Amino acid sequence: MKNKEIKILLSAPRGFCAGVERAIEIVKKSVKKYGAPVYVRHEIVHNKHVVDSLKAIGVIFVEELNEIQDKSRPVIFSAHGVPKNVPEQANNYKIEYIDATCPLVSKVHREAENLNKAGYHIVLIGHHNHPEVIGTMGQLPNGAIDLIQDEHDVETYELDQDQKIAYVTQTTLSVNDTKSIIKALKKKFPEIKEPFKEDICYATTNRQSAVKNIAKQCDMFFILGSRNSSNSVRLVEVAEQSGCPHAELIHSESKIPFEKLQNCKTIGISSGASAPEILVENFVNKLKSKFKIKIEEVEIIKENIVFKVPARLN
Ligand code: SF4
Repeated sequence: MKNKEIKILLSAPRGFCAGVERAIEIVKKSVKKYGAPVYVRHEIVHNKHVVDSLKAIGVIFVEELNEIQDKSRPVIFSAHGVPKNVPEQANNYKIEYIDATCPLVSKVHREAENLNKAGYHIVLIGHHNHPEVIGTMGQLPNGAIDLIQDEHDVETYELDQDQKIAYVTQTTLSVNDTKSIIKALKKKFPEIKEPFKEDICYATTNRQSAVKNIAKQCDMFFILGSRNSSNSVRLVEVAEQSGCPHAELIHSESKIPFEKLQNCKTIGISSGASAPEILVENFVNKLKSKFKIKIEEVEIIKENIVFKVPARLN
C-alpha cells in the first residue's frame, strides 16, 4: 500500500469555532478558580475527545441539575444554551452557575424574546431534541414558539390568519436546506418577519462553504467530529450534495476505512466546530503510515473572531 499516492485537500476553515474555544476556556478557568470537581450540564461541546480531556482534570458531566451530588460546587451550562428554567432551578438549589452559552446562540434567544414581546408568534427552524433547540424554545412560554424541521412541516403548519409570525433558526443548520425551508415559509406566510441578521453562525457557514468549494475534486470526504455534533453531520451532507461521491463522519483515526481508500486519488478532510485539530493531525499521520501523502490546504476565508470569557473567571 505504501507506494499508493493520495492527495489530501485540507478544507479551511475547519474545527474549533470561537464559541467552542470560549466554552472550553470557561471550564478550564473554572476548575482553576474553584478547584475540582466542577460540574458541567450536558457535554460542554459535542465532542468525546474534548469531554474526556475535561473529565481528566476533574469535571463531572450531568444531564440535569438534580444529578449534582455536591450542590456546593459550581455548574457550567454548555455552549448550546439552556431553557430559562435551568438558571432558575440552579438558583432554587443555591448552586452557583457559569453560563458558557455561545454569544451567537444567546443572540437568537434575545431575538426570540423580543419578537415575542412585540406580539409575534415564532417559528424555529431546527432539529427536534437538539439541546440548542430545547434551549431556544425554553426562552418563551409554552405555545409561543413552534419547531419546523423541513418543508413538509411548513406545508402542514397552520396559524390564525391575523397572527403576526416571525422565524428564527438554529445556528448550525445546513445553509442550503434552510434556504429552501425559508422559501417555503415565505411563500405560505408572505408577511413573515425575518431575523435582522442571519442566525446560522459564521463558523457553520464558513465550514460548509469551504467543504463545498473542494467537494467535486474529492473521491471521498472525511469529516472529523462526533455523531451528536449537528454541524459535523451537516458537513457530511454538504460534501455529498456538492459533488463528492462519498462522505463519512469519523470520530478518530482508529476508524479509517483503508479498504475504501484503495480507489481514491484525492480525499477531502474537514472537521466540525467542536472537533479539536489534534483529531485531524492524528488522522493525517495514520494515512501517512500507509500511503504516500501529498497535502494541500484550501482556505476560503481567515477567521479572527474571539469571544471573551466572563470577567469573574479572570
Ligand atoms: S458553531 Fe457557531 S453558534 Fe455554535 S458555538 Fe460555534 S460559533 Fe457559536
